Amino acid sequence: MTASTPPKSIPSDRIPLDLLSKFPSGFFSVETEDLLHYGKDWSGVLSPDPSAIAFPASTADVSLLLSECNARGIAVVPSGGRTGLSGGAVAAKRELVLSLSRMNQIGELDSRALTLEVQAGVITQAVHEHCSPHGLTWPVDFASKGSSHVGGNISTNAGGVRVIRYGLTRHWVLGLTVVTMAGEILQLNGALEKNNTGMDLRQIFIGTEGTLGVVTEATLKLTPLPKASQVCFFALASFKNVLELFERARKGDFILSAFECLSAACFNEVKRHAPDLRTPFQKYQEGAVPDTYVLMETDGGDLDSWLTQVFESGLVLDGVLAQSPQEQQELWSIRERVAESILLKSEVHQQDISVAIRNLEAFTADLSERYRLGYPEFEVFIFGHIGDGNLHVFIRKPQAMSSEEFHRKCEASDGDLFRFVENYHGSISAEHGIGVLKKPALSFSRSPVELEYFRKLKIAFDPKNLLNPGKIFD
Ligand SMILES: Cc1cc2nc3c(=O)[nH]c(=O)nc-3n(C[C@H](O)[C@H](O)[C@H](O)COP(=O)(O)OP(=O)(O)OC[C@H]3O[C@@H](n4cnc5c(N)ncnc54)[C@H](O)[C@@H]3O)c2cc1C
Repeated sequence: MTASTPPKSIPSDRIPLDLLSKFPSGFFSVETEDLLHYGKDWSGVLSPDPSAIAFPASTADVSLLLSECNARGIAVVPSGGRTGLSGGAVAAKRELVLSLSRMNQIGELDSRALTLEVQAGVITQAVHEHCSPHGLTWPVDFASKGSSHVGGNISTNAGGVRVIRYGLTRHWVLGLTVVTMAGEILQLNGALEKNNTGMDLRQIFIGTEGTLGVVTEATLKLTPLPKASQVCFFALASFKNVLELFERARKGDFILSAFECLSAACFNEVKRHAPDLRTPFQKYQEGAVPDTYVLMETDGGDLDSWLTQVFESGLVLDGVLAQSPQEQQELWSIRERVAESILLKSEVHQQDISVAIRNLEAFTADLSERYRLGYPEFEVFIFGHIGDGNLHVFIRKPQAMSSEEFHRKCEASDGDLFRFVENYHGSISAEHGIGVLKKPALSFSRSPVELEYFRKLKIAFDPKNLLNPGKIFD
């Protein structure tokens, strides 16, 4: 990354000279390394081709940049940590990338109001590390937290592993500063808990993937760090048993803060790719074949007697309770390493869907049967935030299959998947947004009338269609 190195010269076909002259040297980069780095996201599907990268340091910089681009008809793609999995931050059509990475200042932590002021480019994990010594946290948490930005989390309304306890990012944002494509600066809600004065515009910018405005600053809402977290890991013989375990966990005398699941194929893949990682369950009783694993985290309450009852009931094949923070981390690592283990050195097609908990059992049975009969050559990995009805479905390309055939078959299997989702009134994107990759599937989850209102909102905030154009919808 060469963001701080001023480029020697910037060709005018990339940035018009009169625009360049309005900003200090080093504000833009056209270094090849930067174009490739900042022009793409984690999805890796589209080839990056941005015209240049801009590195503003303040809301005023963003405002000036957007108004100048608006006047000149220059398309702009906001870019956070680029961990998005739907291509939302990809610039593949010569757009200017607006990277928030220099806007990484952490401001005042108010320990009475439990709030923290940040710029949008602060890394999610840096917020956690900043709050932890105060006994506080911002409870937005998932495997990519070491790279994702707060602004990216807000713009994707990120979910993660503790939604079951805390809800989505939306619930943890009190105030926002947003800049529209015209350069207007909107200060939305400040640090107010209560503000019943008509439309809450703040919510419109949360989860709309940078298509309506650029988030530059936020007042985050904090919560006390859990004091008595416990982490267990279970092996179960069927998905039906997982759901029964979940129901029992809901009724337990403790706070349930995570309930994650991974299929046996995912567990074995992590073991293969992370042999250094200690994994539980080396042996099972004869005849016991685990089908799915569950990571469960609780806070406070009486977990011991609940565990005794679960083991006595025969619902789980085996289970462990972490005995130290290090063991807790080891169990979490199994869950957190699933995606990277499957993705490592192989071509993978992925989907992220959700259905209501009550439909999960029938939905997964239908889906598994469809993959088994229709696509027997696929290696299918299912894992996710089961407590939120959210499944990640990863399909790995068989070695003998060409990429072209793999894509063709994935398109067909996606059609089946989305029809199931529609039939079960679910969502074709639970937490990864729409970006460009999920655009063709949007109509399985949104009605034509809703999509028409999407368009009207876009026209209201960005009538020239210059801010993240072609993302979510055309
Ligand atoms: C291993 C792995 C695990 C993941 N697990 C989860 C998970 O459990 N839950 C989950 O929800 N997601 C998960 N993700 C997806 C991703 O990390 C989240 O969507 C995250 O919130 C994206 O943040 P980012 O800063 O990387 O955003 P980017 O990828 O940079 O951008 C995402 C979108 O937001 C827009 N954007 C970024 N910053 C701004 C801004 N300041 N203003 C306006 N628009 C902006 C971009 O244009 C783009 O459309 C995972 C990703 C990986 C790689």
